[in-house]
Amino acid sequence: MSDISRRDVFGAAAGGAVLAASGQAALGAGGQPPFGPMPQAVSGKDLPSFRYALGAALATTHEGGWSKEATVLNFPVSEKLAGVLMQLAPGGLRELHWHANAAEWAYVIEGRCRVTTIDPQGHSEIADFEAGDVWYFPRGHGHSIQGLGPGDCLFILVFDNGYFSEFGTFSITDWLGHVPDDVLAKNFNVAASTFSAFPKQEVYLVKGTVPPALQEKPAPGSLNAGALTHRFRLLAQKPEAYPGGSLRVVSSREFPLSTTMTGALLRIRPGGMRELHWHPNADEWQYYLKGKGRMTVFGSGGRARTDEFSAGDVGYVPQGFGHYIENTGTDDLELVLAFNNGIYESISLTAWVAANPDLLLSANFGVPPATFAAFPRSETPMPE
Ligand code: MN
Ligand code: MN
Repeated sequence: MSDISRRDVFGAAAGGAVLAASGQAALGAGGQPPFGPMPQAVSGKDLPSFRYALGAALATTHEGGWSKEATVLNFPVSEKLAGVLMQLAPGGLRELHWHANAAEWAYVIEGRCRVTTIDPQGHSEIADFEAGDVWYFPRGHGHSIQGLGPGDCLFILVFDNGYFSEFGTFSITDWLGHVPDDVLAKNFNVAASTFSAFPKQEVYLVKGTVPPALQEKPAPGSLNAGALTHRFRLLAQKPEAYPGGSLRVVSSREFPLSTTMTGALLRIRPGGMRELHWHPNADEWQYYLKGKGRMTVFGSGGRARTDEFSAGDVGYVPQGFGHYIENTGTDDLELVLAFNNGIYESISLTAWVAANPDLLLSANFGVPPATFAAFPRSETPMPE
């Protein structure tokens, strides 16, 4: 780097410092400094709701199925992750498409479906999914999803960008419908008349026929699959079991392709709780599958917010915010979690307390050191 360009860099850095200093000077309501990088939706005096009733939202219906979504437009706190609940009839096809600004993570709730994918190396994969399976499509990779029957296939999609739906979903019919037929003729080396019957706008979701079963043993040379599969059988994994419930986590450690997202399946027994904790490296997006629960989110500055959840609801916890989830019903509470980081990190409040000397805790809380003798000496992820 030359002296001049180095000076330019330092000059730019100094300018940034001036901006930051003037930002500090502008105090918000109550004489508090503004939260800076904290999302607008959670920077006010009171915390907004961390619940969105996705199940009760109106679906967009198509011949081959339906979908409904939770994005930052209708769920303001969900700035880093968006979700879509989608159902495909047998043969129903979510057409070939890619997402320019988000990776796609999914959990199959019921039924069976088949996905096709392509990556920048030209590798392709065609794989079948059933209830309890997870898929991950890296940002920008082409894919399709088709219901296999019998019965409908229901799944929850999570995207690592709360704004994903506003722009950035690229469908094959939308693109081809906006390319002149003679260009398509040259591109595919077929007659221009071939494209006269093609759709002129996005079809999104169409009714197809149920495809035949995949060959169990593909012929030698028939596959061009990459080393990393798009499928992870989450429900089939042995869970981490605790007195108050169980947890299955799928991060990039278990599912190497899933570099930008981690998922989890959380079951909390009646009377059980997911202990007080926070995630230093990710926002948490939740879809409640079964049961009744209550989540309280701590947002600093004396702010805490409790919301009640039941099946079909979406929950959200911004990165670094403290939270806990209680089962308030008489049946198991089940939820799918998705985080916008391929590395799973969680800090247990119980472990944090246990990691500090009783004398320090005594000074911190203003109570006798003996108070802490009965506290757990390690984390208790899900107490009864
Ligand atoms: Mn997609
Ligand atoms: Mn959490």
